[in-house]
Amino acid sequence: MALDPQLRDRIVEAVDRAFDEQVAFTQELVRHPSLRTDEASAQQLLHAAMAGRGFEMDRWELDPAELATHPGAGIVEVSYDGVENVVGTYRPEVERGRSLILNGHVDVVPTGPEQGWTGSPWDSRIEGDWLYGRGAGDMKAGLVANLFAFDALRTAGLAPTGRIHFQSVVEEECTGNGSLSALQRGYVADAVLIPEPEEDMLVRANTGVIWFRVRVAGDPIHPREMAGGFNAIDAAYHVIGRLRELEQEWNDEKHRHRHFEDLDHPINLNLGKIQGGDWGSSVPAWCEMDLRIALYPGVSAEDAWQQITDKLAGITADGAGSPISATATRTGFFAQGYVLEEGGDAEAALRSSHETVFGSELHSFTTPGYLDGRVFVQYADIPALVYGPVSEAIHGYDERVSIESVRRVTKTIALFIAEWCGVEEVASEPEREAVGTAAR
Ligand code: ZN
Repeated sequence: MALDPQLRDRIVEAVDRAFDEQVAFTQELVRHPSLRTDEASAQQLLHAAMAGRGFEMDRWELDPAELATHPGAGIVEVSYDGVENVVGTYRPEVERGRSLILNGHVDVVPTGPEQGWTGSPWDSRIEGDWLYGRGAGDMKAGLVANLFAFDALRTAGLAPTGRIHFQSVVEEECTGNGSLSALQRGYVADAVLIPEPEEDMLVRANTGVIWFRVRVAGDPIHPREMAGGFNAIDAAYHVIGRLRELEQEWNDEKHRHRHFEDLDHPINLNLGKIQGGDWGSSVPAWCEMDLRIALYPGVSAEDAWQQITDKLAGITADGAGSPISATATRTGFFAQGYVLEEGGDAEAALRSSHETVFGSELHSFTTPGYLDGRVFVQYADIPALVYGPVSEAIHGYDERVSIESVRRVTKTIALFIAEWCGVEEVASEPEREAVGTAAR
């Protein structure tokens, strides 16, 4: 059901016409430092933007107790007071087309020391084709693209004939509980599109992720009789060594996991945070490490967790010293990876939309990190299209997104909505101008 070429041109032109405004709104959203549990002001901005488009609005605080009943939920170590998801629903007068969820996460990762940035992580400046800022690529440009893609249809005098849920979720970077909570609330559709920064490509497969903390116990004593104590920080080196062995073992199995065989190092264990001891003059009684490890699709989080805890049993220093007590607890993600099965209708619609805009074939690839796509694929059997703009340095200093890539991706999303949900004419040529103004 390819779109009429004239219709396509109208939609694509409508994206161009509002694009300066789209970039300005993305900049405004980036200026809200929506770090974990601090998403409220960014969510408020998005709520207002969706309400202004006439969507049926819903917002709710995440409920740790309800989430805990779901096998895919992450452990919650923070307060969810005031931590809200926002969903705006577009409902056609008569629902004839296929339904769609346009999802994006509003939470951003820590900035690291701000001196490492050229400007402020929140200044949202533009230099050449790059829009800078924490969250610019991951994934505020995508969240905003979802809204402006819809606007383009309106400006072109078209109305989608399928229901669309615009989701702005929290907790994507740590637990995946935001999208999971939206699913628990009952939001489902025939497909989901998530414009994460994926280099103008479609994610075919991705890993699951587990977050955990390992606490190593020591025996404190005055350093003058150091040999009589047990140094938890020294011992932690051996614990890390054991976990690196596990990482190696899992990487050595990559050829058994389709879509991962050509990756250099698909399983990454990240030692993300470490603390321990009380001060310089006591042999440290404790050391704690926060870690993140990936797992292949098809490997359950429970199985991976069992292997992690088994690996931590019976560690000694170089096989000779005293046993090391290392206890692992889950701290966030407990998520399995997923594969987007080839050949689905949603993928075909995205493929033709992408080709129209880019003039080249849509490539798919494997990404060794967590994506909320797994929530929809695994727990609701909804095909998840994770597809989005070119970015650099996500989670790093001077994160940035390519503005021209955002423009093209927005066009693809607009065409995809039209093709997937279907569209009908709502206004004649002169009326279209007025509709366009109102929609924005
Ligand atoms: Zn992301």
